[in-house]
Amino acid sequence: MWKYYPELLERPVPRYTSYPTAADFNADIGSRQLEQALADVRLCDEISLYAHIPYCDQICWYCGCNTGRANRTHRLTAYLQALFAEIDLVASRLNQRGRVKRIAFGGGSPNALSASDFKALMSHLQTDFRVDDAVLSIELDPRSYSAEWRDMMAEVTMDNVSLGIQSFDPSVQAAIGRVQPLDMVTDMVVHLRGQGVTSLNFDLMYGLPGQTIDILKATLEQTVRLLPERIALFGYAHIPSLIPRQRQIDDSNLPDARQRFDMAAFGHDFLTQAGYQPVGFDHFALLSDPLGQASAQDVVRRNFQGFTDDQSRILIGMGASAISEFPNLIVQNEKNTGRYRGILEKGKLPAVLGIERSSSNQRHGAIIEQILSNGLADLSPLGGAAAHATSLVPYINRGLVEITDEQIKLHESAKPYARSIAATFDEFRGQTVGTFSQAV
Ligand code: SF4
Repeated sequence: MWKYYPELLERPVPRYTSYPTAADFNADIGSRQLEQALADVRLCDEISLYAHIPYCDQICWYCGCNTGRANRTHRLTAYLQALFAEIDLVASRLNQRGRVKRIAFGGGSPNALSASDFKALMSHLQTDFRVDDAVLSIELDPRSYSAEWRDMMAEVTMDNVSLGIQSFDPSVQAAIGRVQPLDMVTDMVVHLRGQGVTSLNFDLMYGLPGQTIDILKATLEQTVRLLPERIALFGYAHIPSLIPRQRQIDDSNLPDARQRFDMAAFGHDFLTQAGYQPVGFDHFALLSDPLGQASAQDVVRRNFQGFTDDQSRILIGMGASAISEFPNLIVQNEKNTGRYRGILEKGKLPAVLGIERSSSNQRHGAIIEQILSNGLADLSPLGGAAAHATSLVPYINRGLVEITDEQIKLHESAKPYARSIAATFDEFRGQTVGTFSQAV
């Protein structure tokens, strides 16, 4: 069981799905730098593609994603036209250089699109890029898994399918504006298994309104019965000042900091005892799954999609708000779908924010990523452990962290503090608080 040290969790810290984080992007970096990064891709480079669909049939009250209601067909059609234009632009800059080894579809909910539109998107990507036996991943909303999507999933072979679940408890579902009965999820899981999906992920949450350890336990028991290969157990971040749709949530019965910690600890113990391998600080995977194997071998990576076994150093995100990552550059597309379409109508790449990663940023970023993903990092590129001993004292004294001359090693009990420990290597944060979420 993890030990609770509230003083180590006081400071809000980034989730570090990139380093530098999105809070450090600036508007001087955008399409010009992206053009250059695409021009620098070599024939043999491995590339991962991500396509963002910022629409959902129903909007959940807790959701912090860049997504809106998919209630008008012409809106989706116009978005898809712009997305196709972006795909064409990016592909023309690559001119068949780079081998696409992964394609991920996220959002929002890709199944807010009609199945025929989604198939058109898939074939557009496969025609434009040099796709080389790519791993295909998709996020699906069980509430929108229509008959036409079922038929389509029988035609395409998705390797990874991720389902938004959050909680199986009906009262918690009602409190967060996401009602999806257990039967609906069970039926979908059976169907996906029948289509040959061998890597299924469930997104779950703790810290939800009215949720208790017993309620979380019942959801975890149900989850384990359905046996997804991967589970993500996120802490709900309630920040209605930044995410207006969260104002629909009654925050009078949200678990407090201690209860949140206990839920995270309970989830970790429950899932590891059920045979799941912990991955990073909030993911779990069976050892039969590539992510579980990557964790066992300490080669997990972290990118905008969370913890991953993807080893590619080039991730090209397309769609409104999508982020692209290269070793020396991160850029983000225009978030507003209207402005995103407008930029593409002028024939320009829609990257409008970003940051060039200096060699120092890359060294710090590699250590932050290793700490979060594998609990282990070589500190020699940053002058060895002695150079960081002072900032690590609170963690060393509590037996959470061990340092040798060159290496930092986090014990299993350090998982809830991993983001805080990683933040000590963040050149941008210093002691500033910013607008980040609680570490647990
Ligand atoms: S389905 Fe997913 S992306 Fe859409 S609103 Fe709900 S949580 Fe957000």
